[in-house]
Amino acid sequence: MLTSNSRFQRWSQAALSRSQFLQLAVGALLPFVGLPPSAATAKNPELAQNGGAPGTKDAAASGRMGAILVSQFGPVKIHSYLSPLDGFNVNTQMIEGPTDVVIFDGQLLLPYADEVASYVQTLGKPVERIILSHAHTDHWSGLQVLTERFAGVRVFALDGIADQLRARGQARLDSFRPIYGDRIATKVTVPTEIIAEGVQRIGGITYDFKRFVDAESDLQLAALLPEQKVLMAFDLVYSSNEHAFTGVDHFDHWMIILEQLKALQGYETITIGHDMPVHRSAIDSTITYIKRAKEIHAASADAKTYRESLKAAFPDRQLAGFVDFSAGLLYAAPR
Ligand SMILES: [Zn+2]
Repeated sequence: MLTSNSRFQRWSQAALSRSQFLQLAVGALLPFVGLPPSAATAKNPELAQNGGAPGTKDAAASGRMGAILVSQFGPVKIHSYLSPLDGFNVNTQMIEGPTDVVIFDGQLLLPYADEVASYVQTLGKPVERIILSHAHTDHWSGLQVLTERFAGVRVFALDGIADQLRARGQARLDSFRPIYGDRIATKVTVPTEIIAEGVQRIGGITYDFKRFVDAESDLQLAALLPEQKVLMAFDLVYSSNEHAFTGVDHFDHWMIILEQLKALQGYETITIGHDMPVHRSAIDSTITYIKRAKEIHAASADAKTYRESLKAAFPDRQLAGFVDFSAGLLYAAPR
């Protein structure tokens, strides 16, 4: 039975045997496996809820490692690709309008970026552009694959992002290579175009682009889709399933930005950088997390204490690797 809230119409997930992924995705999957919506809500109140429509397995998904959720808003579809855990559960959002597709973010690991590219090709529409939301490696390494597979497509980002990638991108890739080998990019894909702030129409869809500084990253794009009433928050908002990245000491300003997002009226659905789209209540749970992380940071003399205290404070969250990573950066000796 479809309800008016039923925007999540199709779920494809080929790697259900991967227990780590199931753990992550259990909240999102529950509406599709016969449990009443109330059970799903109890398990995971923030993931945007399916109104009861059964998930349709995507035939093209056979063998796919990541998961894809399709949210439909009239003629516009948002396809959210979620990588497995070893790719930090990072999302690529594909916004499909009447004539073409806009891709936001490019994955950490090349095989997952390749899955994104193959999926986009099944949509049968040209890629209008690729937009990078911020300069963290898990969002841009795979642009190497996307720009190869969609040769000639321009890559946009906020003014300042390209400079960050030129300055630090190669060092970041080198630091990931011992862990990921040839699954990480060999070269930095630097955006060539600047995305302007404010309202613009791309491929028949209205976007209101916003620039935020000193939150989860130094410089972060967000976008409102006023006609669909969707907030694309990227790494400003995390789901209550997952730890957030807190590697820079911007706790206070990040919380100020979250209050600004909370003041936006009517935006119930939020696409995020890690995990499936969430309900706006995820803004509150992100504030709760950042507030606690700030307190723990203030009370912790070293990385080990921060790490252990934050994990203990949120024992049910996935992506504990983010806590280890963040602790190492927060307590690194000043250079
Ligand atoms: Zn991220």
